[in-house]
Amino acid sequence: MRLKYLIIFFIGLFFFAQKTSGRTIPEIIDVGIFSGESINRFNFTVTHGRYLVCNNQHEKLLEITPFSTITFERRGNQFNIIRNDSVLFTEIDIKLQGAAFHNSFILNPSNRNLDLRGYDGDLKIDVENGSFSLVNSVPFESYVAGTVQWESGFNHHDIFYQVQAIIIRTYALRNLERHSHEGFHLCDRVHCQAYYGKSTEASIIAAVNRSRGEVVVDRNDNLLNTVYHANCGGETVNSEDLWTEALPYLRSDKDTYCTDMPGAHWQTTIKANDMRSFLQRRFGYNPTENEWKGITGFRQSSRRHFMDPGERVQLRHVREHFGLRSTYFSVLSDGENLHLTGKGYGHGVGLCQEGAMQRARHGHSREEILNFYYRNSSIIYMETKEVW
Ligand SMILES: [Zn+2]
Ligand SMILES: [Zn+2]
Repeated sequence: MRLKYLIIFFIGLFFFAQKTSGRTIPEIIDVGIFSGESINRFNFTVTHGRYLVCNNQHEKLLEITPFSTITFERRGNQFNIIRNDSVLFTEIDIKLQGAAFHNSFILNPSNRNLDLRGYDGDLKIDVENGSFSLVNSVPFESYVAGTVQWESGFNHHDIFYQVQAIIIRTYALRNLERHSHEGFHLCDRVHCQAYYGKSTEASIIAAVNRSRGEVVVDRNDNLLNTVYHANCGGETVNSEDLWTEALPYLRSDKDTYCTDMPGAHWQTTIKANDMRSFLQRRFGYNPTENEWKGITGFRQSSRRHFMDPGERVQLRHVREHFGLRSTYFSVLSDGENLHLTGKGYGHGVGLCQEGAMQRARHGHSREEILNFYYRNSSIIYMETKEVW
């Protein structure tokens, strides 16, 4: 009997090991920063630790100590490294490598529309398509904390921050290949997830630490496509109603927790003629008088997908064209203008951030919140793969 239990124990151990050892979280990921911006000159200031400036032969050119600033200025396909107004080196690509236990820096581009940003980790610099290409090699959990801050803001409940960290971590791991052709994992824009620098907020960093390594998976342990939006307006959206794939965990449901939150309501006015020309140009659709009445008196008590009875005009295209906050709106016409009264903010698929915030304040657990927005999901822990 004992042997039997021992065998079961070892089989169990084997499967447990399979579950967690198959995939790991990289300790460091490469994020393209200031992506999409044309930067030709910036200052680099060390805020923690010290940095070695290394060329592509791994030769150390320079050491930068805290609070000293180096300027990088592009000259064609090369760039100058400048200190105290004198050019020290001219290079084509370099790496600024942290040499202490904890290393962080500030980047301050000369572009007037860009503010300075702080980062942890290393920085790779080269020139591509006539501007600097900057890649932050950042400890994964520091990336998560920065992204939680930029994607959800300040003063939220610890449980909400943990939920946000879990889905940001999951989303990042699922999309690590997205920019592989450009030489990094993720960009720093909403195309991937907004990451405009490291977190400065202790409560966010604490929540990320408390949920360290945790991701959300389906019953087969596959990482979920953890999409999220600001406010669903009281009803979330099926994945196939926005995209094409019907995912079993992204199902439409009534959400009673977000309907009094800041993103719950909106109003706007558009010209009736603009709607007519949009229908005509986009769909070649000239509504009959009766159909036009239906469109100008369009109502949604619960979510619909089309604006017209013939199901030609998808609401997501209307939202896109007129830059509306959501597809969940009703129309009132005064003949010349269409007055739109809408609910929610964002595409409505997956987690509703303002609903999740309220659920956290009402004492819901992380599992309860995640299970409401991602059906039959569970949280698992993934090991971090050490680089050294
Ligand atoms: Zn991206
Ligand atoms: Zn909601």
